[in-house]
Amino acid sequence: MALKRGARLLFQKEPAISLPTAELNTLPQVILPYAFPTDATVIPTVHLYDTVRKGTRLSTVEDDPISAVCSSVTGLVSGEREIQHPLYGTLSCVVIDCLPDNPTPEVPTPASEQFTPEYILQAAKEAGIVDELDGVPLSLKLQDWQTNGCGFLVVDAVEIEPFSSSAWAVLHDYAEQVLEGLRMLARCAGVTRYHIAVCLSGARRRALTLRIGKPFLYQTDSYYPVTDIVHRGKKFGTHSAPHSATVGRVGVQACLALYRALFLSEPHSRCVVTVAGDAVPQPQNVSVPFGATLQQLLEFCDVSDLPDYVIVGEQMTGTAVSSLDIPVLPGMTCLLAFSTKTLRTPATYSCVGCGRCAQSCHAGLLPFEIVRRHQNMHYERLSSLRADECDGCNACSFVCPSGIPLASIVEEAKAASGAVFLDMEDSHA
Ligand code: SF4
Ligand code: SF4
Repeated sequence: MALKRGARLLFQKEPAISLPTAELNTLPQVILPYAFPTDATVIPTVHLYDTVRKGTRLSTVEDDPISAVCSSVTGLVSGEREIQHPLYGTLSCVVIDCLPDNPTPEVPTPASEQFTPEYILQAAKEAGIVDELDGVPLSLKLQDWQTNGCGFLVVDAVEIEPFSSSAWAVLHDYAEQVLEGLRMLARCAGVTRYHIAVCLSGARRRALTLRIGKPFLYQTDSYYPVTDIVHRGKKFGTHSAPHSATVGRVGVQACLALYRALFLSEPHSRCVVTVAGDAVPQPQNVSVPFGATLQQLLEFCDVSDLPDYVIVGEQMTGTAVSSLDIPVLPGMTCLLAFSTKTLRTPATYSCVGCGRCAQSCHAGLLPFEIVRRHQNMHYERLSSLRADECDGCNACSFVCPSGIPLASIVEEAKAASGAVFLDMEDSHA
């Protein structure tokens, strides 16, 4: 029998997973980047005191039009700022004071048969859809699948980490639309096989099966990280769509955004975020316009005092932030706020050789050995240990009884081994 790799995590999704999704609609202002990180030249198309409508492009980006961002609100441009974003790095942003939006006129629902692959690709581009799983524009993923081939499409709604339930919230409210968005993706990419992967309790799974049909649902294993249906480890927001992927992986929210772009002519302007942690009186899933700040989101969830720790992302792989003046952008599907009594830095002891880190590593690596060689500066032997295949899932650090931060040391080892080999090559030149 194959060895079960990974870690079992304690689910802490209640009560958010059982509550209806709340809507954050009334905001004084939003902060939006002119464009997502790109090497191309960004030319702002909105200026101070301009009035912008929801869906207006905030810039043109030479040679890279899909990096441009659409406004998520109707409002008045009141300023510019540079921010450090935990997912995207340095961003040049525009500040928009929100104005009341006119109700969108009802448009007749188009028949899906009329959507050609070219039309779907163009709709994904124009709506500015960015996949929440990896920060890659959906149109880039589609082009990659069209060019390099894709045998199977998976909507990854697994949410194997402890707190997140935003994918479930979207499926609960819009399962049929997500499936239709997935069908359109498959049509565009020329893929005939697809499903939605979940890790749900019996009652939720049965309810979803009744709505979308058994062939379209796939229940995964509950070990973290799930590796049987997904490819992890793509660096966030790099536009490096997965090559050679026989399995194309896409987020629930990106599928819903494609449905809305095609059938409702809506830009990608909001996302659902799970807000949880012991500093949040009312953990819940909240639908938030892009550009709302973490402060606004936490206040909406009745967090009045500044929490001791705020983490953008999940418990295993999230990033701690010190400022709450950061906008919610595509890819932010979980926000955790904790008090110090919950989060204490554990003491670190010597390795006891228990092997748990190796057993938990889904990539089949030997984290303790990589760490040992790195700390003893045996860089020349690191390559045989395949440290570069580590995707930073953090499972090894999580299970280590000695509290050794293995994942971050493996990350250092990756960088160090590359540098040393480079130096050696240079010295032979
Ligand atoms: S070595 Fe890397 S891939 Fe393996 S468990 Fe640790 S962080 Fe995850
Ligand atoms: S889990 Fe920790 S203590 Fe056990 S072998 Fe790995 S590094 Fe050593």
